[in-house]
Amino acid sequence: MSKPDQYNVEIPSNEMKDSNIKYFTTYTYGCQMNHHDSERLAGQLKSIGYEYTESLEDASFILINTCCVRESAEKKIYGKIGELKNLKVSNPNLIIAIAGCMAQKDKEKLFKKAPHIDLIIGTHNVHQLVEIVKEFEESKDRVLAVWDQAERLAPDVPTIRRGKISAWVPIMYGCNNFCTYCIVPYVRGRERSRPLHDIIEEIYQLGLDGFKEITLLGQNVNSYGNDTKEYGDFADLLKAVDQVETIERVRYMTSHPRDINDKVIDTILNSKKICDHFHLPVQSGSDTILKMMNRGYTTDYYRELVRKIRKAIPHASLTTDIIVGFPGETDELFQETLEFLKEIRFDASYTFLYSKRSGTPAATMADQVPLVVKKERLQKLMDVQNDISLEINQQFTDTVVTVIVEGPSQRDENRLIGRTTTNKIVLWDKQGTEEVGQLANIKITTAQTWILKGKLID
Ligand code: SAM
Ligand code: SF4
Repeated sequence: MSKPDQYNVEIPSNEMKDSNIKYFTTYTYGCQMNHHDSERLAGQLKSIGYEYTESLEDASFILINTCCVRESAEKKIYGKIGELKNLKVSNPNLIIAIAGCMAQKDKEKLFKKAPHIDLIIGTHNVHQLVEIVKEFEESKDRVLAVWDQAERLAPDVPTIRRGKISAWVPIMYGCNNFCTYCIVPYVRGRERSRPLHDIIEEIYQLGLDGFKEITLLGQNVNSYGNDTKEYGDFADLLKAVDQVETIERVRYMTSHPRDINDKVIDTILNSKKICDHFHLPVQSGSDTILKMMNRGYTTDYYRELVRKIRKAIPHASLTTDIIVGFPGETDELFQETLEFLKEIRFDASYTFLYSKRSGTPAATMADQVPLVVKKERLQKLMDVQNDISLEINQQFTDTVVTVIVEGPSQRDENRLIGRTTTNKIVLWDKQGTEEVGQLANIKITTAQTWILKGKLID
């Protein structure tokens, strides 16, 4: 069961709910960019008088922000849209809106598949929600707002944030890379960089609002500035963000291994606030598959990149994304990926079954891999990775790490969660002296595959 998004706003109790107020709720699938889009959609709803609720039944506006990177996400989302049908029958005034990548891809087809939908909002139309709602209220007719192309830069809109400590800041939109398996360039358009001064101003203000950590977002952050020579490149942006005195930590995602360069590594090395965590999606450990994926690098190039990063910043953590079962991946080629994983020893890998995306070149490639083989390979990969992650994490036992206190764990509110600059998640029993947003030193007592556990020390 998917859960509604959580925002950093007061949630009225049932007794406090006011029948004169219209409530909204949102569900988001997919990447951080989608989650940030939901923050912007929610902010616009709030600006026209809607208040947030976690309850589907109380909502008079339900927004589903969708992802279509893999078929499994689409299936889940169609299930969720189907669930809303009964709510619409019992409350015909309910407004149901579908936004995001599936909306951009399927457009009016979504109305045919699910006639209870009222609004379809494409990825390039997120900033128009207020106008879209107005049009719907005036016409009482379904609205399809899906531009084929983005404006060079969408205007800023009111935003409400999910967290109190960490915030996402988009630095660019779209992607020019056309990896042969990926739908993103088709649904998010070409690369557009946000002006440097807008990014810095937003980060400065987020710091004044109490945020400690920001994550710069883009499909390929290393191509920041390529579309215009006005703002400098990604390293210049990192340098400028590092100097924003109101915030403490800076993360970024995602880096393309082909485009991250020495200037970026040097900038991170010499920075005060840029985190020493590199997420570099390798996708495959086979040169044959990398070529077919159109990734633009070889395994030797990647090895050299990792060597450079580890030489410059030896304690940096390294994570990756891997796709198994890309068309043409034989047992031997998959074995190359397994060996690569053992050789590089990533802190963590996010592993995916290749999913055929219609319209992408890989969808019509020969030698598609059967699902059962893909699943077997995924399991093998995860087994190898889990052992490596555990071994790496065990090296932290009895050491002291510094985290920003993020708040109580969702499972147990007597436990607090924090994260290191290397993006390790740390859990410890609350002592009462910790404050959310402050730095805390934790002595690690237990290492697990995905988390570290420890004790607060003075
Ligand atoms: N722009 C980022 C990059 O290049 O790494 C990531 C964007 S993509 C939304 C996130 C991850 O989804 C990719 O790194 C890839 O591993 C995975 N992915 C994309 N298309 C996929 C597909 N058709 N099947 C399975 N996984 C896919
Ligand atoms: Fe997709 Fe490749 Fe662009 Fe990442 S870089 S969004 S994987 S096309």
